[in-house]
Amino acid sequence: MVVRRGIEITGLVQGVGFRPYIYRLAVQRHLRGSVRNSPAGASIEVQGPAEAVDDFVARLRAEAPPLVQITSVSVCELPCCLETEFRICPSEVGAEARVLVSPDVAVCGDCLRELFDPTDRRYRYPFINCTNCGPRFTIVRDIPYDRARTSMAVFPMCSLCRAEYNDPLNRRFHAQPNACRDCGPQLQLWDSEGRPVQTEDPIRTVQKLLHGGAVVALKGLGGFHLAVDATQPDAVACLRERKRRVEKPFAIMAPDLETIEQFCQLDDSARQALSGFQRPIMLLPKKFPNPVADGVAPRNRFFGVFLPYTPLHHLLFADRHFLALVMTSGNRSEEPIAIGNQEALAALGQLADYFLVHNRDILRRCDDSVVRVVASRVQQLRRSRGYVPVPVFLRWELPPVLAVGGELKNTVCLTRGRAAFLSQHVGDLENLEAYRFFEEAIEHLQRILQVTPRIIAYDLHPDYLATRWAQERTGIERIGIQHHHAHIAACMAENHLDGRVIGIALDGTGYGTDGRIWGGEILTADYAGFTRAAHLAYVHLPGGVAAIREPWRMAVSYLWQHFGRKFLATPIPLLDRMPARDVEFVVRMLERGVNSPLTSSCGRLFDGVAALIGVTDRISYEAQAAVELEMCLEPGPAAGAYPFAVVAENSCLQIDTRPMFEALLDDLRMNMPAGVMSCRFHNGLVAVLASVAEQLRRRVGLNRVCLSGGCFQNAYLAEHLEEKLQENGFQVFTHTVVPPGDGGLSLGQAMIAAHRLQQQPT
Ligand code: ZN
Ligand code: ZN
Ligand code: FE
Repeated sequence: MVVRRGIEITGLVQGVGFRPYIYRLAVQRHLRGSVRNSPAGASIEVQGPAEAVDDFVARLRAEAPPLVQITSVSVCELPCCLETEFRICPSEVGAEARVLVSPDVAVCGDCLRELFDPTDRRYRYPFINCTNCGPRFTIVRDIPYDRARTSMAVFPMCSLCRAEYNDPLNRRFHAQPNACRDCGPQLQLWDSEGRPVQTEDPIRTVQKLLHGGAVVALKGLGGFHLAVDATQPDAVACLRERKRRVEKPFAIMAPDLETIEQFCQLDDSARQALSGFQRPIMLLPKKFPNPVADGVAPRNRFFGVFLPYTPLHHLLFADRHFLALVMTSGNRSEEPIAIGNQEALAALGQLADYFLVHNRDILRRCDDSVVRVVASRVQQLRRSRGYVPVPVFLRWELPPVLAVGGELKNTVCLTRGRAAFLSQHVGDLENLEAYRFFEEAIEHLQRILQVTPRIIAYDLHPDYLATRWAQERTGIERIGIQHHHAHIAACMAENHLDGRVIGIALDGTGYGTDGRIWGGEILTADYAGFTRAAHLAYVHLPGGVAAIREPWRMAVSYLWQHFGRKFLATPIPLLDRMPARDVEFVVRMLERGVNSPLTSSCGRLFDGVAALIGVTDRISYEAQAAVELEMCLEPGPAAGAYPFAVVAENSCLQIDTRPMFEALLDDLRMNMPAGVMSCRFHNGLVAVLASVAEQLRRRVGLNRVCLSGGCFQNAYLAEHLEEKLQENGFQVFTHTVVPPGDGGLSLGQAMIAAHRLQQQPT
């Protein structure tokens, strides 16, 4: 019996090879009909023998190309009609404007086979790609997504490439970046002055240069990398010195999972995440001994590792030339990653000995993404290349909102319907270049999504550049959102929660509604608002930002607060290490209350403890003390926990750290190893947070807890608190889609602003 069915598909199915896939599926089964893009996704009509049509529908999801994300399939019966073929039709009116731009995708297995096949016409061609892989987001100028609106526009296809592009049965059907050696982009090797280096094969020459210990700037997908051989201590040290990056770990790229296994511990979830098409950098526990130079990730138990994702990377690693390469963002310390050839030369000329460049322009900066496995889930630390611009799918339709994020690890967010689009990692808005990048990211998101926001959401901190940018906009409603409320709302949004929750938001800095610096906050919150139910007791930040850079100041601040001047007479190793004059200076500052704002920051508590137990006195990158405190932790079943006190003040609970510091000083006197003290501190913090949640549950009857904020990048804290809360019968929600830190902030801001907008009478 011949039947005809209509199939409506919703999800991410446009610009990802879905229509050619459907075409092949239908033609293989000798079915007739058509496929077209629709505003919600794709519409298919298919006609043929009932069994063949059933088989077609059954396989639709199962064999879809890797980038396709189908959210729903609905099927209806249609009357049969006269038709002789299966066609790919032009898009419905309005469909093109809704086409989602795909993220950049690691080179696929088919292209890799061709890359290393001497009989293939793209043998060793470093820009090979197809419908299933290659650059996307980073080469898009505008929508709809076709070649003319990408940086491939300047490369007219040769007749062979053109034929592939036009053949629905070819893997390169409508692959916009399709190219070959005859018609596509080419590599060039430059010296540090930008003079071309004569070479038959730039890749083989770069392999030799890296072997010789050179620093080579490599143009990648979303920007330049600086590369050195990761097994050569001198080369790594040289890169550190030139980049003026003292201790912050470098990411390393290794050719395959087997090689990574030589220096890192791998489990199945890590293997899977590393090999996914996004190819993020993943933090993995080091194995000891290992052949990687110590300078790659000093004083850290983890390596940040990733696999090759462009054909160029694979060519560099071919013939097992390297065990691992340091691949760090090509930028001057905190500036955005360089993308243009001349821009890179100007920014990196002093840093790199050679430049491997090409003539395909990168139009969007996009750093590598960073993930970590926490409680057997992949958690985002930096959501960027490979993930952007895939939206976060929401539970409801939202009005269009622009949220501009925070100051550090900035991202922005734009909503459209049931999707929230977060930008790539913009970084720290501390210089003009980063600020320009921020404006670019907003402009580009609005353009590719064709959305004009009705409201702008920003952080309450008056000095943040993003906040100032928002306040300078005119003719549009704007709304300031409290930092920790936004963190909790972000966690609620990605978990599709509604209603009120207990929110534990722990981070370094967030502007409070009382004008103080918050950061150890337990809220009861929904999208409409929040109540500050508990927080870490206030302590002074002696010297303001200087206290953030110098954790030893925080140790002194806590000791002074709890014990007054007499702590100076107690035997504490920190006091032996620090010049007495410096300590005295900070104590006087505290006594006089000069330049010592109050904070309830959890990050600063980590700093104070890290300095006191001798882990870190000064830092050279953000959150270094907290990272090193976690790194030195020696877990033990009977390690014990430092006590904290909980004091009720009005209706808000204060977490008092005095008993904790008393116990810590006792341990210091007993010469307890740092790893044990770190463990007791972490356990104590987990216990007190769990007990506060318990008290709140009794008081307000809430049983759902959201964990958010940068401190939850600490796997020990995140895993143990989650476990403890679950033991106590709480439902616990954490982040997996966006980072728990400020990279996820814009999502929460957008949710709260959208809610506010929806409450207003129209
Ligand atoms: Zn491919
Ligand atoms: Zn060609
Ligand atoms: Fe934060």
